[in-house]
Amino acid sequence: MNSPDPFIVRVRALLGEGGCLESAETMARYLRDWRGLFEGKARLVARPRSTAEIAALVRLCAEERVGIVPQGGNTGLVGGATPSETGTDIVLSLERMNRIRSVDPDDFSITVEAGCILADVQNAAAKVDRLFPLSLGAEGTCQIGGNLSTNAGGINVVRYGNARDLVLGLEIVLPDGSMWDDLRRVRKDNTGYPLRQLFIGAEGTLGIITAAALKLFPVSRQRATALVTVGNAQAACDLFSHFETRLGDCIVSFEYMSKPSVQLAYDLVPGTIWPFGDITADSVLVELGWTLEQPSLKDLLEATLADSMEKGFILDAVIADNEAKRLALWRIREAVVEAQRIGGASIKHDISVPIASIASFMTIADAAVRQILPETRILPFGHLGDGNLHYNLMRPPGIDDRAFLQNAEALTRAVHDIVREFGGSFSAEHGLGQLRRDEANLYKSPIERELMERIKSSFDPHRLMNPGKML
Ligand SMILES: Cc1cc2nc3c(=O)[nH]c(=O)nc-3n(C[C@H](O)[C@H](O)[C@H](O)COP(=O)(O)OP(=O)(O)OC[C@H]3O[C@@H](n4cnc5c(N)ncnc54)[C@H](O)[C@@H]3O)c2cc1C
Repeated sequence: MNSPDPFIVRVRALLGEGGCLESAETMARYLRDWRGLFEGKARLVARPRSTAEIAALVRLCAEERVGIVPQGGNTGLVGGATPSETGTDIVLSLERMNRIRSVDPDDFSITVEAGCILADVQNAAAKVDRLFPLSLGAEGTCQIGGNLSTNAGGINVVRYGNARDLVLGLEIVLPDGSMWDDLRRVRKDNTGYPLRQLFIGAEGTLGIITAAALKLFPVSRQRATALVTVGNAQAACDLFSHFETRLGDCIVSFEYMSKPSVQLAYDLVPGTIWPFGDITADSVLVELGWTLEQPSLKDLLEATLADSMEKGFILDAVIADNEAKRLALWRIREAVVEAQRIGGASIKHDISVPIASIASFMTIADAAVRQILPETRILPFGHLGDGNLHYNLMRPPGIDDRAFLQNAEALTRAVHDIVREFGGSFSAEHGLGQLRRDEANLYKSPIERELMERIKSSFDPHRLMNPGKML
């Protein structure tokens, strides 16, 4: 396709063969978000191969005042990587920026380009007997640049922190096209404002992350995994406190699944095997790991579970005694997510409250939801060890999708108001993007919003970076 648009002609010349997609057909997959909630238009999709190309492209866009929507693996859940419907902005895909620049096992660090798929970074670390611990359901598709731009969480946060905690240095192209090489690997540096942190979780609104130096960790020599059933969410919270007190140094994951969320997974996702017979209770998937070869982590887990049972925190437990059984337990957790994708219309909330308040939050939120639409299927699950719950609501039988979704505003308002009462967050790990942007006006203080505006204006005065997202 040979567009006469002089801007497109210049981009084509800059990025060469395959660097500039222009037809509706080739652009389609970049213009729609993973959940299918947002669809936009773009002047073109740019696919640069180097930081120099990105810098030149961003300079050109600054000159021509063209907005840029950075895009990684496009697995984000709030429409942050989808352009608006104006068709005036470009999508800048990082997918060809996918080189591992260096791995240094003695320094416990790895330096990668932003378009590296998360699973590839994990594998590169594993090859030198190191662990890159960020792990989430989309790891085969999402990219490091997207993970850092959303400050992704996932299943190992209890032990290793969020994406932010895993960063040593960044390489950034700023909105005027200048490049900031901050790819340092030091672990201590108190020489001014922590500027790099501003770009983590910024959802592409302050600049393009082009590469990152990341922390690696020793590989766990032992791992022990159990699925336990609990009487209710309060028992799950009590169990977490008990585990933290006894085994805090080695808890890697602590995931909660409500009974209805597991039932839905069992009903809809083939291959989901529930090891306790009927699904009659909420459950927790707990995984321990550490580098020591002795004492046996499995013995410690068994002893702590026996003790937990005596104290009445758990009803039943199964410990995975081989890798296949461990994967089968994790398969249940994955199936819970999958089932909610295929199960019909749902209204999703990615909330956090203080860990010990999760059960109280659920009691109050459940009552509020039932008051608005009594039959709603309430299917919470999530990273209980981080106080982060995916408090998801699904269409009940007998109501069609449209009728159910008409209640979305009322249900979300009720849930997020309760989150505020608990001092929590209405978006714990997915960010604001387009979906949650306006919630910030309701739940963030005026001073906080004003500070964010000032930061945005000083980095991006023409508001060209990811227009209409976050702010
Ligand atoms: C099945 C599934 C499970 C998931 N589980 C989790 C989970 O457990 N925890 C969690 O936190 N999230 C989870 N997510 C959400 C999503 O995977 C994460 O937000 C992920 O970090 C997004 O990465 P991405 O490369 O797909 O980014 P994209 O979706 O492409 O982009 C996300 C945002 O980052 C910006 N961006 C992307 N790359 C760059 C860059 N190089 N420079 C500047 N800005 C950039 C985009 O403009 C956009 O605003 C899940 C998603 C799916 C589909």
